[in-house]
Amino acid sequence: MPDNSPNSWEARADRYNLYGFTDLPTVEARGAVVVTHGKGPYIFDTAGRSYLDANSGLWNMVAGFDHQGLIDAAKAQYDRFPGYHSFFGRLSDQTVMLSEKLIEVSPFDRGRVHYTNSGSEANDTLVKALWFMFRHEGQPERRKILTRINAYHGVTAVSASMTGKPYVGTFGLPLPGFIHLTCPHYWRFGEAGETEAQFTARLARELEDTILREGPETIAGFFAEPVMGAGGVIPPSDGYFQAVQPILRKYGIPFVADEVITGFGRTGEVWGCQTYDFTPDAIISSKNITAGLFPMGAIILGPELADRIQAASEAVEEFPHGFTASGHPVGCAVALKAIDVILNEGLLENVRALTPQFEAGLARLAQKPNIGEWRGKGLMGALEAVADKETKRPFDGTLSVSERIANACTDQGLICRPLGQSIVLAPPFIITPAQMDEMFDKLEKALDKVFAEVA
Ligand SMILES: *Cc1c(COP(=O)(O)O)cnc(C)c1O
Repeated sequence: MPDNSPNSWEARADRYNLYGFTDLPTVEARGAVVVTHGKGPYIFDTAGRSYLDANSGLWNMVAGFDHQGLIDAAKAQYDRFPGYHSFFGRLSDQTVMLSEKLIEVSPFDRGRVHYTNSGSEANDTLVKALWFMFRHEGQPERRKILTRINAYHGVTAVSASMTGKPYVGTFGLPLPGFIHLTCPHYWRFGEAGETEAQFTARLARELEDTILREGPETIAGFFAEPVMGAGGVIPPSDGYFQAVQPILRKYGIPFVADEVITGFGRTGEVWGCQTYDFTPDAIISSKNITAGLFPMGAIILGPELADRIQAASEAVEEFPHGFTASGHPVGCAVALKAIDVILNEGLLENVRALTPQFEAGLARLAQKPNIGEWRGKGLMGALEAVADKETKRPFDGTLSVSERIANACTDQGLICRPLGQSIVLAPPFIITPAQMDEMFDKLEKALDKVFAEVA
């Protein structure tokens, strides 16, 4: 029960905040969880209760909530040079070092990096950069952007237009020229009698038909998450990226991997495109790039797009774009440390080591009569609740099943995220085997409680 006294943290939170992406009935019934500090993968609220955060904050606090090396890196940079921009040919040494490092750890042998403050801005910026490039190349009509239903690419007017979720309609979006293809989720969208290979082939045909219908000369890019995150953790169907990439190449359409969640280790390789064995033309990074300690987005351009966008910039003597805090020295220092911590201090190894335990836990819970499937890659996974396992019929939306499961988890000191009718798990990379057991034990109790009420 929320503390309803007027000066409680819950009441003060409620009075002054316009909550984003927050289920208002849940907050009204329960009060917000106001967090004061964290330790490893746990957060603590104002009443001193602890919660194992099985979502790493918002996918991003992959080194946990009190990583001393990261905190020290931020403090040291605040002491040395606490803020700067990257306009007019002036930029911090940390920014130079981070760009070098990002190209070094990217799948590209050379390229260029441009910074933003968020993943949304990074997607938005790259769309603008592609428009800029094609105009310079004499193809000003190449402006349409292809993404997928259920994709999440952010919330600015352009990145929300790329996002393939119904709620963008509440803003009168998408903008014209943003086209959403079928979501590559075979379990849900495969047709009766269709094999997974046939499903993948159908989606590839849909892509090519769409390109031909719209006119290849009108399409500026295809953006895809290697594993859809906020769409409910949806790995692609078998062979999906191998099927779409040649079609994009054939029509000269740049292929961008939105690796805001999958970048830096989540799927068990540094990049999701490595896990799925393709090389995109550019990568969008954010979230784990600073292990959640500083707002930052990065556009990592592979060699060809780097050269083409550079040439377009030279023609007008600049790339006329940038945010005041882009390439912030503290953010760059934290990112350099975060990359080092993930790659060289055992975090990526821990993702790999714990993936079998994670998959086994998901598979065990998926045996329950009201779980339709488990899915995932590396340390990102989901369980999908169903009213009927045979027919995959979802629960009545008014039952808010996934919200109820997530609330039952919160009551037990476990944070996990309801997404559609799924429960999403994406624990920090520092999680231990015992903490993972705790996560699945608590989730199982919550599932049993809620299914006993609704099934
Ligand atoms: C979170 C996310 C974004 C948006 O990042 P913000 O920093 O919230 O703007 C974009 N793409 C993907 C895949 C994301 O998960």
